[in-house]
Amino acid sequence: MRQIPRRDGEVYHRTFPLYGHTWKRVILIDSKGNNMTSSTPNMNTPTQTADVLIVGGGPAGLAAAEAAARTGARTVLLERHKEIGYPIHTSGGSWIADMVALGIPSSLYHPIRHVIFLTPNNAARFDYDKPVCCVLDVRGVYQYLASQAIRVGATIRPGSPVEGPILEGGHVVGVRAKNSLNEPEEWRASVTIDCTGFSSIIASRAGLHVGYRRYGYGAEWDLIAPNYPEDELYLIMGSQVAPAGYAWTFPHGKGRVRLGIGIIRPDVDEDARLYLNTFIERLPQMAPVFAGASPIEYHVGLFPSEGMMQHFVSNGLITAGDSAGQGSTLVGEGIRFAIYAGQMAGVTAARAVQRGDTSASMLSEYERAWRTKFGRNLEIALLINKRIAVYTDAKWDKRLEILKQLTPIQAAEIMRGDFTPKLLLGILRRNPGLLSESAGKFLRLLLKKFSNGQQTAEVDSTSTDLTGKP
Ligand SMILES: Cc1cc2nc3c(=O)[nH]c(=O)nc-3n(C[C@H](O)[C@H](O)[C@H](O)COP(=O)(O)OP(=O)(O)OC[C@H]3O[C@@H](n4cnc5c(N)ncnc54)[C@H](O)[C@@H]3O)c2cc1C
Repeated sequence: MRQIPRRDGEVYHRTFPLYGHTWKRVILIDSKGNNMTSSTPNMNTPTQTADVLIVGGGPAGLAAAEAAARTGARTVLLERHKEIGYPIHTSGGSWIADMVALGIPSSLYHPIRHVIFLTPNNAARFDYDKPVCCVLDVRGVYQYLASQAIRVGATIRPGSPVEGPILEGGHVVGVRAKNSLNEPEEWRASVTIDCTGFSSIIASRAGLHVGYRRYGYGAEWDLIAPNYPEDELYLIMGSQVAPAGYAWTFPHGKGRVRLGIGIIRPDVDEDARLYLNTFIERLPQMAPVFAGASPIEYHVGLFPSEGMMQHFVSNGLITAGDSAGQGSTLVGEGIRFAIYAGQMAGVTAARAVQRGDTSASMLSEYERAWRTKFGRNLEIALLINKRIAVYTDAKWDKRLEILKQLTPIQAAEIMRGDFTPKLLLGILRRNPGLLSESAGKFLRLLLKKFSNGQQTAEVDSTSTDLTGKP
């Protein structure tokens, strides 16, 4: 790791080769335990105010903005890019039930009827007469979320990169940013919500987060593919196409398909972009469906793959979405989780402002509700991800046999990460031979996690509604 002193008291180190110019700040603590990265307000910089300030206009931030404004807070969202939903760094695979629950118009997602898993020497196909999964019009969904936030009173400011938090007396009290004219400005707010995704810039600079060390590194083309069957989605495993990861083909309507490769680093030291460039050579059986295809967009992105952050809140600060590690590491799915997290964070922040108490202890209402609702399944997803990330090709072929025994709905529940005792017992029942194998022992271990978690289930049924919906 190359360390470079940049300013007084700060050290930056280069982190991820994908973004050659990305530097991540290391938090320095002085001998009295003070965070030296905090900043004092600059008297010459214009200062603006909000009750709830959201940094980042991805799904988490946009949902937080709607929820906070709907709950009555004066809400402002700062997004560094000039457009909401651009550039795209996701494949947009999601679930119809969640899109319906979240009120996303059906014109903004493309239903999938067939899901096909390929391993080096095996294949499993699941058909859904009534589709359960879908691929999003990502930009459309994000801009729809933005419109919903604006309708209830939130202000969104694209072209406003945030540089870091303003810390006073151990509280985050706002941020230092630039406006769309590239002029410095300060924002002061009772609660700041960090929705900056993988970079987690506010939380890491406020000392809540040390940055992600394990992450999925994805590269993807969005193609016009006239010969691709529009309702077939492929998930492809094996060292030939994606070592410690997988390849995907996600059709999203109007002849368009996202073809991508995700690789987990540092589990393997490979470049997803190179695997993407040679995909057809590595998997010639896919050549016919991509005949005559050409990309019209190229996406790259990073997804945190080490589980949820230890803490989601500190005084005056909440983190939500990828910046808190709240996606499912099983398949690298985070959009719906980010929206749910944003909703919960926005409501909690607005309520804290109303109560005049924005301490970590007040904001931890959000953390409790989140962990109760999603914590256990996300932990299980990570356990499984760590196991399958080291599968050999032969093991993938073998494990696909287990999947082939399942019903389409059971297969969907696994992909969604909806782990219930019923699902785990169902897998064992359909694969009795597993009981003598390590996978069977692992499933029994997971079942034990549920019997130990009865307490959690009880809390779940009584937990406060933090969705912010009327
Ligand atoms: C290759 C790839 C494929 C994926 N595929 C899927 C999939 O199929 N389905 C799925 O559900 N999930 C998928 N994910 C994960 C999903 O994209 C994320 O979980 C989701 O985007 C998280 O939303 P978020 O709002 O937390 O963060 P983000 O979507 O990352 O949004 C963060 C926002 O903050 C802004 N921002 C960052 N820093 C600053 C700053 N300093 N100042 C102001 N603004 C800032 C960014 O510009 C961005 O708009 C994929 C991820 C990758 C990398």
